[in-house]
Amino acid sequence: MSKQFAWPKKFALLLALCLASCPSPAHATFINGQNYVPLADWARANGLKCSWFKRGDEVVATNRTTRLVFDKDSRMVEVNGTDVALSFPVAADGGTRLIAQMDLNTTIRPLLFPPRFTDTKRITTICLDPGHGGKDTGNHTFWRSEKTYTLALALELRDQLQKARFNVIMTRSKDAYVELPDRPALANRRGADLFVSLHFNATPTGKNEVEGPQTYCITPVGASSTDAQGEGANFGATTANRAEQKSLLLAYQVQKSLVRNLSAKDRGVRRARYAVLRDATMPAILIEGGYMTHPVESKKIYNAAYRHQMAQAIVIGILTYQRLVSPPLPPSTNHPVAKNPMANGMSTNTISTKNHPR
Ligand SMILES: [Zn+2]
Repeated sequence: MSKQFAWPKKFALLLALCLASCPSPAHATFINGQNYVPLADWARANGLKCSWFKRGDEVVATNRTTRLVFDKDSRMVEVNGTDVALSFPVAADGGTRLIAQMDLNTTIRPLLFPPRFTDTKRITTICLDPGHGGKDTGNHTFWRSEKTYTLALALELRDQLQKARFNVIMTRSKDAYVELPDRPALANRRGADLFVSLHFNATPTGKNEVEGPQTYCITPVGASSTDAQGEGANFGATTANRAEQKSLLLAYQVQKSLVRNLSAKDRGVRRARYAVLRDATMPAILIEGGYMTHPVESKKIYNAAYRHQMAQAIVIGILTYQRLVSPPLPPSTNHPVAKNPMANGMSTNTISTKNHPR
């Protein structure tokens, strides 16, 4: 091959390597200060085939084990059937669909290529945080208070986790008020391996339509939260950002399990810098188990059998996460087996939810 043609080939190889791993690939475009790259180029470099639907507004990237669905101008991506919030919307440059490099680094890559077996220690202790308590009732619909049902779910989940041989710490085990910073502080002090905060949701509008669980983990540095409540991209790094990738993976596996095992609507994995998340030193998530304002879902939340099922789904999500990051279990351990963790999810909607402290 002459020198004249050798250079483009080398350049193509360099570009492919760059798209797979470099923070600033050759085709970067800056939109609102963010570095965007062509979605199709990134997909190709990572062994995924792209198909375009809805006049190119929907891009589906697939291979034998993965299916990603991106929508133009949307901050939600479907990852193997479960909705996950991106930090920035998918953009367009003419007919080319673009994705923020930050989203590839902080959301897509950690989910597609999880950090397998990186924990030297198995997960033994889990801190459960039943939302609200005492003078803080949480959401209140008719005569029902959120604090009652977060505690009921936490007690159920505690029993099931203990049966699965985990040690469980509770930030509260009765109707008591606990300051928000004290909750992750307890988990940090007691050396918990995971932190799981439990809440139920409410919406001021669309009460008949808005339903389903959603699971939060910490917002990446430099991004706005999914439902930014006054804090935006300028918020600095938090303690929780150190365990950000594992928190995302835990949130994803728990959300997937909740949607599949409860046959619930998928409101997705979302990002927030909630006070109970941002100070945790271990992987930390906040589960909104469903809507107390929805006429059908609320009745389920108030039902002990449904909360038992919800706790089972959370345990399955935690065990699936554990299998991804921890060394294999000793043969004698008899843990429940997760059903297919790649179950299909459903689309989400974007109606904002009522603000309550967490
Ligand atoms: Zn709450």
